[in-house]
Amino acid sequence: MYIEGRNKAKVFIRSSPRRPSKIRYVDECLKNRINYINNFNGFLTLASCCGHNRYHTTIFVKNLELGNIFEYFTTLLIEPKKKRYLIFYQKDSEGFYFNSIIENHYKTI
Ligand SMILES: [Zn+2]
Repeated sequence: MYIEGRNKAKVFIRSSPRRPSKIRYVDECLKNRINYINNFNGFLTLASCCGHNRYHTTIFVKNLELGNIFEYFTTLLIEPKKKRYLIFYQKDSEGFYFNSIIENHYKTI
């Protein structure tokens, strides 16, 4: 099944100017904005999803100087769950990713 907005785009991300770039695959709809955010020194995108017409678009960004993580569109500070890696999203029964904190935030504004 083709789902609008599920195409992935390749981006190159580096966590500091001294480190080599790493290839990441992001939702096509977010490619330009992901590149834009990562071009600022001190900001690193960690996770993102365009929402696929079901949820809000989210980009989780680390402020490398302060060490905190915020969601780009809402500017909410987020503390992701940590297993072996940081967990930003839950998956619904149809396989769509969402962050309940962000979704609840939009319901209140
Ligand atoms: Zn997505």
